[in-house]
Amino acid sequence: MAGWQASRIDDPVSRLRFLRRSVGDRRIWDPRTEPGRAFLRKARGPLALALGFLILIPAGTMTSAGRIWRRGPVVTAQASEKGPETIDQVWQVEQNREFETYSNGLRIERRFETGNEPRRYFVYPRGAEDSGARQERGAPAGIVFHTTESQLADFREDQTGRIRLLGEALLEFVRRERAYHYLIDRFGRVWRVVKESDAANHAGHSVWADARWTYVNLNRSFIGVSVETVTQAGSDRPEATAAQIHSLRVLTAMLRARHGIAARNCVTHAQVSVNPANMRAGYHYDWAANFPYPAVGLPDNYGLASPGLWLFGFNYDQALVNVTGQPFWKGLLLGEEQLRQDATAQGMSVTAYRQALAERYRRILSSLKQEEETSKEKASDQAKEKQG
Ligand SMILES: [Zn+2]
Repeated sequence: MAGWQASRIDDPVSRLRFLRRSVGDRRIWDPRTEPGRAFLRKARGPLALALGFLILIPAGTMTSAGRIWRRGPVVTAQASEKGPETIDQVWQVEQNREFETYSNGLRIERRFETGNEPRRYFVYPRGAEDSGARQERGAPAGIVFHTTESQLADFREDQTGRIRLLGEALLEFVRRERAYHYLIDRFGRVWRVVKESDAANHAGHSVWADARWTYVNLNRSFIGVSVETVTQAGSDRPEATAAQIHSLRVLTAMLRARHGIAARNCVTHAQVSVNPANMRAGYHYDWAANFPYPAVGLPDNYGLASPGLWLFGFNYDQALVNVTGQPFWKGLLLGEEQLRQDATAQGMSVTAYRQALAERYRRILSSLKQEEETSKEKASDQAKEKQG
């Protein structure tokens, strides 16, 4: 009901205030009953471990890996809107088969490191996504933050063995599924799983945009970083320990320095996730609230208008707004507001404009699917030739 009434309030700030009042601080969400989440149960030895929900969209094959390693302050390509954005210098200090260390104190564990298909993807000019002027890239454009939603033991000294066992089983699962590039365990240790030069199956159907470019399906374009934690039942809040937050900060700084990643391209899974089947945003909602943006050294990106809404006409479910935190639906409301303004500027009704955007999205999605099929066929033909 809140949404129905709010839709009649034109000013976005008043609407946001209204929604905050009417939804209040209700926290009724049990992630285990959410239809958007698939839970995977794996028996391991005497323990039955419930391991994280992971969207696993099969990735196609691409040709070569691109890698950029920039030293020194980096001015990002998306710096135009608010003046140049500088990124702190972070460099590698030490590297061996077990671990890497960096100048900002970051240490990366490598014992579970593995490869996947090389990272190649297309970016689309923002607002003219189907103009044919897309570009192919190989370097990561952003970071998507996740939670594992896996089984957790109590965080107490006498549970150390169990915490470690669960963490290792999770790492094995993530490696097998190529599910994330990085995993930050309960003790704040940073594990590289999928190499940065490769794609990982972390974001599924997803959409994001910066000042110039639109990204569709971020498995290939964004780096997936997951925190071993769960959203508490009855709460919209995943908890991260101080050690995990510190690791998020130093890892994010290193990745931004290495790849020249703009701050506004560092966002949570909830902010990018979409469901093409019903054209709704927020299919997965890990970190829908409570991602510690300032503590991670990033601006509060919850304040960015959701690109799924204003670029491709996605809608959102009122139930989602009711159960997720305010920061998340601020982005949805701003996205909706942007959509209205753009429709007016185009002299179209919101409904007609939304439909046109959704058609544009479907065209891009079907061309992506076709290319994936073609590259899979090519790969299997090549494999057959080798055998023959
Ligand atoms: Zn996720």
